[in-house]
Amino acid sequence: MPHEHTTAAILSVGDEITLGQTLDTNGPWLAQRLRDIGIVPVEHVTVPDNLARHAAALRRLGHEVDLIICTGGLGPTADDLTRQAMAQASDDSLVEDPLALAQVEAFFAARAREMPTINRGQAHRPSRGRTLPNLNGTAPGLHGTIGTAEVFCLPGPPGEMKPMFEHHVLPRLNPPSGRIVRTRVLHCFGIGESDLATRLGNLMDRTRSPLVGTTASGGVVSIRLRYEGPAPAVEAEALLDTCEHEARSLAGEFVFGAGEDRLSAVVLRLLRERGETLACVESCTGGLLEAMITETPGSSAAFVGGLVTYANEAKTELAGVPAAVLEFPGPGAVSAECALEMAAGGMDRLKASHCLAITGIAGPEGAVAATTNRAAKPVGTVFIARTSRAAGPDARRFQFPGDRSSVRSWAAVSALGMLRQHLAGLPLVRVLRQVEP
Ligand code: ATP
Repeated sequence: MPHEHTTAAILSVGDEITLGQTLDTNGPWLAQRLRDIGIVPVEHVTVPDNLARHAAALRRLGHEVDLIICTGGLGPTADDLTRQAMAQASDDSLVEDPLALAQVEAFFAARAREMPTINRGQAHRPSRGRTLPNLNGTAPGLHGTIGTAEVFCLPGPPGEMKPMFEHHVLPRLNPPSGRIVRTRVLHCFGIGESDLATRLGNLMDRTRSPLVGTTASGGVVSIRLRYEGPAPAVEAEALLDTCEHEARSLAGEFVFGAGEDRLSAVVLRLLRERGETLACVESCTGGLLEAMITETPGSSAAFVGGLVTYANEAKTELAGVPAAVLEFPGPGAVSAECALEMAAGGMDRLKASHCLAITGIAGPEGAVAATTNRAAKPVGTVFIARTSRAAGPDARRFQFPGDRSSVRSWAAVSALGMLRQHLAGLPLVRVLRQVEP
């Protein structure tokens, strides 16, 4: 009877991860691949390049889950300790694997290089375990058992880890039969997580199936639906259909997309459907909005281009903002008037159907104290304007949270959200972080 994998733990190894110097992207990627086939990841553990900690984590997890997938620590240097940790946790000793040695040697030979002596250690494995070939690097993977768990150890670099998982781990996995996991995600813009939760009400009860949860990131709040249980796939999809329908109607106009949809791609699709084009004029975001837009393949079908007008002179020369708006006693560069002039100038000069303009104080310097003629403008104050050839303009004041990078990304996403509201024919309701002028 093959070992059934119901629960899994993912173990990421490396000082660079525990110290916060490298973002663990292997863990989330593996979790998704396991979930896709019905194995539930129940724990993510990160340990440094430390034999005792690594072996202890393996020993503990070996009694708590059915499957452990470990990444990192398979290199040739003294700080690569996964082989030793596997041996120690399974009360085994290391032996040299002749086939793995031949594969490491072949890797170097194919590149016309002699194998450094240090790499020979990479062909070691616990005597009761086996190695997994690596076609994209020198580090062979490992496969063995600790306690009641089947363990796979993969190299840290994602370019080596992913193909090894697909070719040598996935075919050996044995998800419980008659149990599936199916997920969906809806994305919302313009509403905060608590307000969204209030709208979703009982749908978020933790006893319901499918389970409904929310996550927020940089102005976009996502609704996550998850079915986990014994229903046949068709039935699970039908349950998710009903749940998604309910979630969409409760979240209403705030839902802009699903799955891999990004706000910029949705806006570009709406523009293309209408045969219209977009230009941007950016100050404090310095091109970030344009970068988000051009991340979408095929954006040139609707995106004309943009102007980065950081200094006042550039706002006047490139976008035609009148000096009277910028100079005292005018409202100044960070104002609704300036954003509207930037958008009008950009739409005109770049001959676009719509233009989005952003001007604000990203910080940490630049806050403006109140004077008799002007209101205070704290860090995070941003004005965003939309102009359109076939409709009146829209200018709004926002107060974004966080540091410079947070303010800038909130601003770019909010500009896209404003244009989407307009293109989708939605009422121009006040969106998250929008404040009175
Ligand atoms: P190699 O022999 O290629 O060094 P390795 O198995 O020894 O492989 P590590 O030395 O632990 O791997 O990590 C190598 C690099 O892989 C790290 O510097 C990092 O860039 C990347 N890496 C390791 N673990 C992760 C992870 N969990 N998520 C994302 N990247 C990772």
